[in-house]
Amino acid sequence: MSYTISDSCPTCNNCRIECPTDAIKTENGEYWIDQEKCNSCEGYYEEPQCVIQCPISSPTPTQAKKGRYKNVTRIPTSPEVFINGKNTPFASSMIIWEACTVLTCASVLPWEKDSEGNLYYERPVKQGQGTIIFRLDDNLDTQLSEEVNYLSDPIKLECIDIRAACLHLLFAGYATTLEKPWEEKFVISDQQIEQYLGLDKRKDLSKASKLSLIKLLIQQTCQILATIDWPQQGKVKEFTVPESRIWELSEIKHHFQEDDLGCQHLIGLTFTLQPGIWAKYFLNKQGYSKRVAFYQYGSLPQFLLSSVMSIWQQHPGAVRMMLWLLFKSKMGRKQCITIPTLMRVAYGQQRIAQADIQREQRKRLIRTFESDLEVLNHYGLKPLFDPVSYPESIQPLWVKLEQLPDDADEALDFWINDGCQEHRLTDSGPRGKWNWLMKARMLNFELPPEWEEQLIKFEQKKQRKNKRKTLTKKPPEFTAQQILDARKSKGLSQRALAKQIGKSQSWIRDLENGRFSAKPGDREMLQTVLELY
Ligand code: SF4
Ligand code: SF4
Repeated sequence: MSYTISDSCPTCNNCRIECPTDAIKTENGEYWIDQEKCNSCEGYYEEPQCVIQCPISSPTPTQAKKGRYKNVTRIPTSPEVFINGKNTPFASSMIIWEACTVLTCASVLPWEKDSEGNLYYERPVKQGQGTIIFRLDDNLDTQLSEEVNYLSDPIKLECIDIRAACLHLLFAGYATTLEKPWEEKFVISDQQIEQYLGLDKRKDLSKASKLSLIKLLIQQTCQILATIDWPQQGKVKEFTVPESRIWELSEIKHHFQEDDLGCQHLIGLTFTLQPGIWAKYFLNKQGYSKRVAFYQYGSLPQFLLSSVMSIWQQHPGAVRMMLWLLFKSKMGRKQCITIPTLMRVAYGQQRIAQADIQREQRKRLIRTFESDLEVLNHYGLKPLFDPVSYPESIQPLWVKLEQLPDDADEALDFWINDGCQEHRLTDSGPRGKWNWLMKARMLNFELPPEWEEQLIKFEQKKQRKNKRKTLTKKPPEFTAQQILDARKSKGLSQRALAKQIGKSQSWIRDLENGRFSAKPGDREMLQTVLELY
């Protein structure tokens, strides 16, 4: 029994190098296996090397596997992350957010080329006081010919599958289960991934194609390298992280099952991964308590992963907005978002600029945007339009149709009533709709319960923390002499000072005579006015 290469082979040549019998051939840029020469690696290796070396495990036995897959002994995996079946904590620092953006928006990001011609994407931090530079490892650059200008040829970057972002978020979830993520590893199997991404319910995909997809997505996720130059923030001093991977893929274990003809079928994959060194600075519990590092995490709803896997092909813009909102909403649920920001996230600045000058592009972009909003709404991310800047007249038709009654008679009345209006629902948008949209905004997005519940908890925790901070941070006490000296050095009379802090002159006099001490609230005012530190 021999193997054959599927049409999805991206012609990387790995298998040809490893084949011990020289069975793999190329013809007109296509790879194929010479059935006469392929002996399933018998006498050389226990497992077919072309399957193991292939980034998508494209080679499969010529004869499809019959019967059910037996359970094979596998290496133990890390525990489940979605313990409650709804959500899990996940690393949500800016590094993880931006790396997610790289995976979802690779083709629309403003990549530049360094002196060696390698692509990089630079993200400023804190108004340019720091930077994060992202690169994709050699594989991508080698897929681009020397003279390719990525700006005019973004298709080349489109080889990054938007679904890789799901794996990235999943890994960010696993990272939070580790005590010292930058030193520890986690193990995840294809079965877990299938379940998290909802692939286990896809009856239209064969086991081989699911494994192939998972292997490809994991490798793309692990393709991102980052160099971090972080400025001082709060008590955490500035630091630099040299170029390193966000996720290190330490090992892929291939699980095979032999059929009656002695042919090895790939039936499972187990991946061992380790979070990169970024975790030492952004996901460090001990460091956070000592104020030398951050511990930044959010809540990842499980439904988000399966939703992305369902809509990625038809609605990549909706996927980008969805994942962007995952991080953005952590900053507060009730935040206004301008439409140009949402469009930039979903389609990139370049497309907005084109729409600005070309009518057809403009119409197409508005249609896509409105349809993507509808998809978000369908998945529970309900946009709340600002009635002032985003009035009903420019809102998408689906919003208006939500008011359509279910009852047939009432629906008829609805349409009759609509027909009597000056502007009907189905009329095309008013002139200048694009310009209106460029000034419009969403009040916020209502989120599904499993997402919102966690955010409310985060906000309550934050409020409690701030309250504790305010309570514990009492202004320092000052002696009567200190207050007297400070007032004089500011050239203020007792009357003038009293007026500034809303007290009587006698109160100031008694204070300076040491007859009593100021209460914390008054001390704070004195401290501000007299600049006492
Ligand atoms: S199974 Fe082994 S012998 Fe056959 S093509 Fe693959 S690497 Fe070559
Ligand atoms: S390793 Fe896989 S992708 Fe690469 S040439 Fe061989 S079959 Fe194609």
